[in-house]
Amino acid sequence: MPLHGNNIVFWGWTQTRAAAADFAPWLNWLWAWQNPNPEKRIVGLRFEPKNGVVIVSGVSAGKVSSLPLRWEPRRKAVLRLPKNVEFDFNVDKEGRLKQIQLDLGQVISAQKQTMYRHAEWSDMYNNKVPEVSKNTVLIEYTAHPEARFHLSGGKTVPVAKLQDGKSSGPMTAIAPATQRVRLRVVEKASNRPVPVKLHVHGEAGEYLAPVDRHRIPNPGWYEDYSTDFLNQNIHYCTYIFGETVINLPLGRVYIEVSKGFEIRPVRAVLNVGPDTNEITIPIEKVLPWRERGWVTADTHVHFLAPPTAQLEGSAEGVNVVCLLASQWGELMTNVGDFDGKTTFGSKEAGGDGEWLVRVGTENRQHVLGHISLIGYHGNIIAPMCSSGPDEAALGDPVSILMTEWAQKCKQQGGLVVIPHFPNPRAETAATLVSGNADAIEMTSWGNLYNGIDPYSLSDWYRYLNCGYFFPAVGGTDKMSANTAVGTVRTYACLQEGEEFTHEAWKAAVRSGHTFVSYGPLLEFSIEGKPAGTWIDMARNGGTVDVTWQAASVTIPMTRIDLIVNGEIRETKSLQPWEDSGHWSVKIARSSWLAILVRGKYPDKPEIITAHSSPVMVRVEGSPFFSAADTLTILEQIEGALAYLDTVGTRKDEETYKRMRMLLTGEYRKLHNQLHQLGHFHEHTVATDHAEHHGR
Ligand SMILES: [Zn+2]
Ligand SMILES: [Zn+2]
Repeated sequence: MPLHGNNIVFWGWTQTRAAAADFAPWLNWLWAWQNPNPEKRIVGLRFEPKNGVVIVSGVSAGKVSSLPLRWEPRRKAVLRLPKNVEFDFNVDKEGRLKQIQLDLGQVISAQKQTMYRHAEWSDMYNNKVPEVSKNTVLIEYTAHPEARFHLSGGKTVPVAKLQDGKSSGPMTAIAPATQRVRLRVVEKASNRPVPVKLHVHGEAGEYLAPVDRHRIPNPGWYEDYSTDFLNQNIHYCTYIFGETVINLPLGRVYIEVSKGFEIRPVRAVLNVGPDTNEITIPIEKVLPWRERGWVTADTHVHFLAPPTAQLEGSAEGVNVVCLLASQWGELMTNVGDFDGKTTFGSKEAGGDGEWLVRVGTENRQHVLGHISLIGYHGNIIAPMCSSGPDEAALGDPVSILMTEWAQKCKQQGGLVVIPHFPNPRAETAATLVSGNADAIEMTSWGNLYNGIDPYSLSDWYRYLNCGYFFPAVGGTDKMSANTAVGTVRTYACLQEGEEFTHEAWKAAVRSGHTFVSYGPLLEFSIEGKPAGTWIDMARNGGTVDVTWQAASVTIPMTRIDLIVNGEIRETKSLQPWEDSGHWSVKIARSSWLAILVRGKYPDKPEIITAHSSPVMVRVEGSPFFSAADTLTILEQIEGALAYLDTVGTRKDEETYKRMRMLLTGEYRKLHNQLHQLGHFHEHTVATDHAEHHGR
């Protein structure tokens, strides 16, 4: 839809979900008059306007014991549907549901009822998504005490019958959340409140949010960048600073608290009584990775305000949140948060230096690719997006290459990450072989259970096989409340004794001493050297000692693999929570070595939960090279060139030639290497050349 100046879509008001704005063209006012002489019959009404015109839309009469327009506080009830009847969550033009309505009141929301298994609550893993009931619906409402629910088929249920947990017909009351409680989560060692992720629900599975948090968050893209997390849009959580106020029902409530991968998550059942005014939950750090110099990061987060990102980061145990401004057609996000110098949470910015947020940019094009420019100084690298929708705006020409964006970022002291590797792929290949990228990113989006994508890994392996070392980082690409900051995350190890700053973190990523994780934590070395190291060996190769340690407090581990040049060389099953070991491995040719850890939630398939960056072992006289992998890299650059030559909107001849020259240069470099090492390959028409003919 074309957007004209006056054609505004009022997205914001829809999010209140409460009322239409007061500036509608027509407003009806309701008045309730009480008959002062109830023993007398009313025979007529007479309106005498004092000034202007009075329009009376309608008159009705009724008999109730109190003012009909004064309703009771919000209540909840469960509606049981008849067998084989599905609930229709769509509302009509007036905002009414088909299967349940209220007279003298308002149905606020209807949600599928979550069926948490309470008997196993304390023993089950954190964030487990409950089953959703097929035949019961959770109804929130506010109504007059004499109101009645009107159900399908003309059945009615008086609101008054839904008191104290009672049932009437197909409806059952849920204990109202009336007990105001101060909830604190403290770290055992310091006894101080700390930011955490929190989930609380009652006996009927009803989500209980703190008083200043959404009861019903919106999981849609860009729709709700509040401080909430909706696992699979079913299991609701929020982030708190360590202390919050929450209204709870009397009776049992079920609580879940977590703070990243080093602190043991807590699941507890609490009994709330009329004297319960304060609840304190202790949490405990059990894995000392931070103490050993490891810092965590989510390299890819959108839309959040920097302080919200900092809260979510600290509540998820993520030390560095890379908040990326970007452009989405006509929408520019986080651009006012970018100043090219402030690291929110750093000591210079008045923080404690432990939980940092830095605004960078994700520069994007729909065909050539996306590139994350992290922690650079100075001016924003703009345009943030190029070459038309969906990323840039309609009519934006191809004005800059990703490789050129990367070069600018490096000049401005930033870290260049190829996000959600390898897609969208085309020019990424040229950026990588040109040496302008620092890392490649494994991405989760909203899915905690997919693990590291083998497709991402296999493409990363291609570059490693050809001797292009890139460390792996983890970033979520969070764009909505259905993704938690740090679902997949980067662990990067600082130099020994080095103070943690944003600059030190960037250096740690560049050094390659990293691993990516969905839960398990790793230590890994070859001949005592960490990931990111190049080890030189004499012509005949030799044997190297591989040592590793793995631990988890979230997902149980199942297996560890030693990956050598993209293939599993050694494998061993793991103790679920902590294990260590070593292997002696023969190296005959130049090889890269990394470890891969698998894990499994009890009710889910096994996934790749962690992967280290590699150690590169260079054997004299044996170059890192794979003809098949080189070919696929070349083909991607050919694709990027074809795009420039054909449908890419041209800015001007000079820009087109400049971009073409850069890509051709990278293409030739790789291509010449292929020929020097004596590999024949098929050419596309666009890049064919004389060496292939007359052989
Ligand atoms: Zn992207
Ligand atoms: Zn993104």
